Amino acid sequence: MAKIIDGKAVSAAVKEQVKKETERLKSMGITPGLAVVIVGDDPASRTYVNNKKKACELVGFYSEEYALEGTTTQEELIALVKRLNRDDKINGILVQLPLPPQIDDKAVIAAIDPQKDVDAFHSENVGRIMIGEYKFLPCTPAGVMELLASENIDIEGKSCVVIGRSNIVGKPMAMLLLHKNGTVTITHSRTKNLKEVCLGADIIVAAVGIAKFLKADMVKQGAVVIDVGMDRDENGKLCGDVDFEQVEKKASYITPVPGGVGPMTIAMLMKNTLTAAKLANGIE
Ligand code: NAP
Repeated sequence: MAKIIDGKAVSAAVKEQVKKETERLKSMGITPGLAVVIVGDDPASRTYVNNKKKACELVGFYSEEYALEGTTTQEELIALVKRLNRDDKINGILVQLPLPPQIDDKAVIAAIDPQKDVDAFHSENVGRIMIGEYKFLPCTPAGVMELLASENIDIEGKSCVVIGRSNIVGKPMAMLLLHKNGTVTITHSRTKNLKEVCLGADIIVAAVGIAKFLKADMVKQGAVVIDVGMDRDENGKLCGDVDFEQVEKKASYITPVPGGVGPMTIAMLMKNTLTAAKLANGIE
């Protein structure tokens, strides 16, 4: 039976650390500030934004929330981003994705000041991640690395398989494992021999977006399995990309959904915002 990695506990520890650091900054007259922008009324996005707001309160950040109409134009949104870029109270800007169809995500991300890009989606930050000289790491893959570290799981020389190649999760995830000297394979929907590739993995990170996609017969005995997925099962219940009940019997470590990677994403956002506040004030 696998050991379950407790994302709630690790996330609480990260937020506690951020809270302590925030107190130190506040004693120097600096309050980290995060602006969260949401366009339209997608219920899932709304929930994420509310959770981010709560996390800001918990760690002691100043926060602003902009809930814009679904009919907002790209020009209006970019004008807001530019105003936030100039606002000294704001250290981090997060534009909640997805955006409505009239707005080009890429144009909006490009407008965010890279020093305030706490999601690390701006091409400057993506490039920095590629060369290993980053200030911010994208929150979800960074959260996965924190979970692995919390259990002292060694990555060096290990065969790591990432299922999924999105810009938000799969690609940066692979890069972070590579930086830790993993031997990394990125797989996707056109991968022909996925089962064989996965069976060779010491560490599997599933970021597919298909409920219970990773079955026990794709996992070697003793592998570490990290589930990034946030999916719905046949009864509408939240579940991950991993067939948890079966895979748990073969893996050495596994993350649950909920309570695994999910809580880490917000904790890492808080950590990035703290970093942004330090950078803006020349503090290390
Ligand atoms: P995405 O952009 O839809 O990417 C999914 C990836 O899975 C794509 O690269 C796709 O391949 C690949 N894929 C699809 N079907 C496949 C198959 N049959 N075999 C192998 N690969 C396949 O999704 P995402 O944004 O990366 O998110 C992935 C999951 O993580 C979702 O469930 C999402 O909700 C969740 N998520 C969770 C958090 C969190 O905080 N926990 C954060 C972000 C995302 P192609 O490129 O070939 O299409």
